[in-house]
Amino acid sequence: MRAYRYTGLHKAELSEIPDPEPGLGEVLVRVGASGACHSDLGILAAPPGAFPTPLTLGHEVAGYVDRLGAGVSHWDIGEPVVVHALLGCGRCRACTQGLENQCRTVEFDAVGLTRDGGMADYVVVPETHLVRVGDLDLTQAAPLADAGLTAYHAIDLSRNALRPGAYCVVIGVGGLGHMAVQILAATSAVSIIAVDVTDGALDLARRLGAAHTVKSDHDAVQHIREIVGPVPEGADVVFDFVGVTATLDIARQVVSPGGRLVLVGLGQGELTFRPTPGNPLNPIPLETTAVVPYWGNHADLVEVVALSRAGLVKAETEVFPLAEVEEAYAKLERGEIRGRAVMVP
Ligand code: NAD
Ligand code: ZN
Ligand code: ZN
Repeated sequence: MRAYRYTGLHKAELSEIPDPEPGLGEVLVRVGASGACHSDLGILAAPPGAFPTPLTLGHEVAGYVDRLGAGVSHWDIGEPVVVHALLGCGRCRACTQGLENQCRTVEFDAVGLTRDGGMADYVVVPETHLVRVGDLDLTQAAPLADAGLTAYHAIDLSRNALRPGAYCVVIGVGGLGHMAVQILAATSAVSIIAVDVTDGALDLARRLGAAHTVKSDHDAVQHIREIVGPVPEGADVVFDFVGVTATLDIARQVVSPGGRLVLVGLGQGELTFRPTPGNPLNPIPLETTAVVPYWGNHADLVEVVALSRAGLVKAETEVFPLAEVEEAYAKLERGEIRGRAVMVP
């Protein structure tokens, strides 16, 4: 079969490898669609040794149950499914509570991060990490596995702060951010302020439910404050789906006292915290909570699939044949993808 494999620093190629075999408790999934996450670019740029090589990329996968490994009887051949790729270790205290995203061991395991993923014709997955998607188009189902799931989990963690009428800033309206805007619109009555560097992303945000859009430049803080009110007013919740120093700086300057910073993007920026007497607003307002969500758990995926099947969330996709996977990642790196790039074998 074909598989797009990371082989070393900044190196990946579409190669021909033997079809994988499902082992005990595993299912072979014929890939129907596989989304390209910005984190895949992070894998390509990571220090050698941080991820195994060779590694088939792709942790956002939907497909059809193709073959069952020994001991598996729960699934029907041909059933359409989405993969919950975050496996955890399955044994630590967090994993046994269904909180694989808090796995407390170094044996952390995930499809497409530590074992072969779904940028391929087939992928092997533990039978316990599949979710049925019914008649959902698989190019819609795949982005739910990370872009949808991570956004949903991050929003769910902040549910108490997302009161009707609250101001909510979403920085970075790409794969994750454009799902977040829709999930906020579908599950709350907050006023969404979308922030991005590209006009295309801001147009998309407005179409998906953002009440305001702000260009992410050196005037962004001022423009957001014109909407949410001057200091010490501010936004109740700020999601940063970029995580570079420039966006973290915007986030901390527009969050209200008692507000919530939700830091999802892995852009390697720095957020400084400098407790200072007599300067209650800088650099982070008093009583502010910061949370660092990670991906999402099985139950979150079931719920985000339900939102999608109810027609309340629709991924904006750019679909590529698997043969053009390299071009898709290149476009993602150049910031030219609207929503999510999805590969179809
Ligand atoms: P993406 O490339 O699809 O989207 C990024 C968006 O941010 C684009 O619209 C881009 O124009 C915008 N952007 C870039 N620089 C900006 C700036 N300075 N200000 C405002 N907007 C800016 O990426 P994605 O796949 O949505 O991933 C987003 C981030 O989240 C990445 O860092 C990724 O690694 C990370 N991520 C984290 C988790 C988690 O669980 N914490 C899960 C998945 C992805
Ligand atoms: Zn990802
Ligand atoms: Zn664990």
